Amino acid sequence: MLLDRRSFAAGSAALLTGCATVGPQARSIRDCAPLPKVLADPSRVIRTVAGLRPYRASGFVVRAEALGDKKLVHNYGHGGAGITLSWGSSKLATDLGLPGHHGPVAVIGAGALGLTTARLVQEAGFPVTVYAKALPPLTTSNVAGGQISPFGHYRESAVTPEWRKQFQSAMDYSWRRWQIMVGDEYGIRWLPTYEESRNPAHRGDWLDPYYPNGRKLSAQQHPFPLQDVIAFDTMYVETGRFLRQMMRDIQVAGGRFEVRDFPTPGALAALPEKLLFNCTGLGARQLFGDTELQPVRGQLAVLLPQPEVRYAFAGEAGYMFPRADGILLGGTFERDVWDTTPDPADIARIVNSHQRFFSGFRCAA
Ligand SMILES: Cc1cc2nc3c(=O)[nH]c(=O)nc-3n(C[C@H](O)[C@H](O)[C@H](O)COP(=O)(O)OP(=O)(O)OC[C@H]3O[C@@H](n4cnc5c(N)ncnc54)[C@H](O)[C@@H]3O)c2cc1C
Repeated sequence: MLLDRRSFAAGSAALLTGCATVGPQARSIRDCAPLPKVLADPSRVIRTVAGLRPYRASGFVVRAEALGDKKLVHNYGHGGAGITLSWGSSKLATDLGLPGHHGPVAVIGAGALGLTTARLVQEAGFPVTVYAKALPPLTTSNVAGGQISPFGHYRESAVTPEWRKQFQSAMDYSWRRWQIMVGDEYGIRWLPTYEESRNPAHRGDWLDPYYPNGRKLSAQQHPFPLQDVIAFDTMYVETGRFLRQMMRDIQVAGGRFEVRDFPTPGALAALPEKLLFNCTGLGARQLFGDTELQPVRGQLAVLLPQPEVRYAFAGEAGYMFPRADGILLGGTFERDVWDTTPDPADIARIVNSHQRFFSGFRCAA
């Protein structure tokens, strides 16, 4: 079942047909701005993956509570925006936990939220140990496409004004932090991003500060076989490289990693640290009984890299993010599906819908 990113964010139930809308035909090459085509062919698929987004309708949780004689700060439940929000949400969490604390700190979880929390703890001058059931590359964060854009992480009708404030300040810090990390070291780069825009009501959000250079394109300004196209610039994170580099940074600064599975909060209470950050993602459902947390499965087909493709696209056909480690094709948002084995039929649909889309280009570079 395929659902586009904007429809999911808006809570719509629209499903992808996998057929790109055929729009205006170019009268000549001058009516069409060329871009390189993605060679979306089943023979070019180098791997397939499925991951579970830790989704909560009422939004991510950053909250402190007592656990026996310890302070526990929750930092989980970021749905389809956990890479985007990681730095900012972790900043909220550390601002909540660190003031007045002395001594070592424990971070539970080694995904994007755990590693950014651990770095912020170190930057504030505290020793840290990261405890996790699984380390990168075996986390959901490694599966993420890595677009810096706050999509698919809450339901409009379920959030409070207080949460909205938290979200705004998390987004603001993240947005600035990602910018100062752009470059090969962390695998982060800016790319022009094109989106099919079917619903004029959604157009307002690309004008906000996190969609710089946002504009509606005329048919002359793109090669896509579509009527309504918007464009903006944003950053993309090669998640595997970023997480690997973050682990190194934490170790260089004296941090430790320990592989450990905590079945109950009681097991956490036995840790020597007095301040704990819970960054267990979907794991928080079982560990802390948060049944609002549910998986939204996403599947990706990764194609052979094409370095000449330096733009991203999202629309009815699905989404395409080009990275150094491959061209990511995605587009599934499957609620309450726990299976992390990619479904060959879904993968075939993802590749086919992109194949149709790219073969419909009105002109190509
Ligand atoms: C296909 C797909 C595409 C995505 N694309 C994007 C995107 O483009 N942009 C974006 O911002 N986000 C995206 N996301 C969402 C993003 O991946 C998640 O929001 C994010 O990875 C969540 O990070 P996390 O650190 O909370 O969880 P995780 O990465 O799952 O890390 C959780 C950590 O906690 C540990 N843990 C869990 N339970 C326990 C326990 N009981 N004891 C000890 N350790 C435990 C785990 O082992 C792991 O180390 C995407 C997700 C998917 C699946």
